[in-house]
Amino acid sequence: MIPTVLPTYNRAPLSFVKGEGSWLIEKDGTRYLDLGSGIAVNALGHANPALVATLTEQAGKLWHVSNVYQIPEQQRLADLLTENTFADTVFVTNSGTETAELAIKMARKYWYDKGTPRAEILTFEGAFHGRSTGAIAAAGSEKMVKGFGPLMPGFRQLPFGDIDALEDAISDQTCAVMLEPIQGEGGIRPFSDDQLRRIRALCDKTGALLIFDEVQCGMGRTGRLFAHEWAGVTPDIMMVAKGIGGGFPIGAVLATETAASGMGAGSHGSTYGGNPLGCAVAAKVVEIIADPEFLAEVNRKGALLRQKLEGLVAAHPSVFEAVRGQGLMLGLKCKVAPGDVVKAGYDAHVLTVAAADNTLRLLPPLTITEEEIGEALRRLDTAASQIETAAPAA
Ligand SMILES: *Cc1c(COP(=O)(O)O)cnc(C)c1O
Repeated sequence: MIPTVLPTYNRAPLSFVKGEGSWLIEKDGTRYLDLGSGIAVNALGHANPALVATLTEQAGKLWHVSNVYQIPEQQRLADLLTENTFADTVFVTNSGTETAELAIKMARKYWYDKGTPRAEILTFEGAFHGRSTGAIAAAGSEKMVKGFGPLMPGFRQLPFGDIDALEDAISDQTCAVMLEPIQGEGGIRPFSDDQLRRIRALCDKTGALLIFDEVQCGMGRTGRLFAHEWAGVTPDIMMVAKGIGGGFPIGAVLATETAASGMGAGSHGSTYGGNPLGCAVAAKVVEIIADPEFLAEVNRKGALLRQKLEGLVAAHPSVFEAVRGQGLMLGLKCKVAPGDVVKAGYDAHVLTVAAADNTLRLLPPLTITEEEIGEALRRLDTAASQIETAAPAA
């Protein structure tokens, strides 16, 4: 008999009743150190007092009104996001997937309104943009698309990081290039600064719009408010979600005035998107994370975690191969199945997330303390030792 919860996830036998900062707590009081943050969502930790206060205050005033009215909380969030980024305008969504849908629509509408329609959007293998029919067509991986065809046409996947292939594929018929500056689900795989600059230049040459999906790598995760800032290039359209709500389901599409020029009244909409409750929380999150002092701490702690992970790799060469990523978006390339490390982590009461390319993801709350980083390493060391004991190196 089918489970009453549609079984689309392989779930771990863990369940939590409470969260506190970097910790998740089971009913019997067992505490797990959370290095996954609900997949880069709980950027400010669990039950962050400032967010709880903002949420409860807004909950006592107004949760939802239609977008047919002015929404001051949405306006404030949009102002904060445009003040702190390349963008001139913002549409607020409820999830990352919805940002992919709007980014695609916005890019195509831009060209349609120019009178020279362009449909093709170029993406890179290993991409993840969500699970809608459009987003899976964009990413194109067999695992996500099999059985769901016919897929939305107009997408072409190029080998990951292959800018020469992009140069061959891109033309004055290309609608847009869409990519995550650091692939998350794809295995914490960064495009280099130089690659991002070459991609920007190819878009400029052909007119193709550049879409960055910063749903996972954005919102301070890499030590800058947005990951693309490291490369000194800006996109025309950017997708944001996950960390921006700190746990409240919300996302946003940011765009330049030019890229957004096709999206007039009636061209897009959302019942829930931009509601006062979510926007109040997200504005608080942006306010906290955009503070240069907060970002400096993310960089400091990211460097510390990375240094300790290098030590972990050196101590367990049969389990781990290398560390990659930036800030507090780090990946451990594994020599064993990353799922086995995740499971051993459960026994050691530390939570991590598996990704593609045989990689284990570490996405702790950006508020993790130095002491907790030390504790995380002790627990990861225990997990790695358990794997070595189970399968001694030959
Ligand atoms: C998680 C993710 C999405 C999809 O976001 P949802 O909120 O799950 O719809 C899109 N892009 C990237 C890079 C993601 O990591």
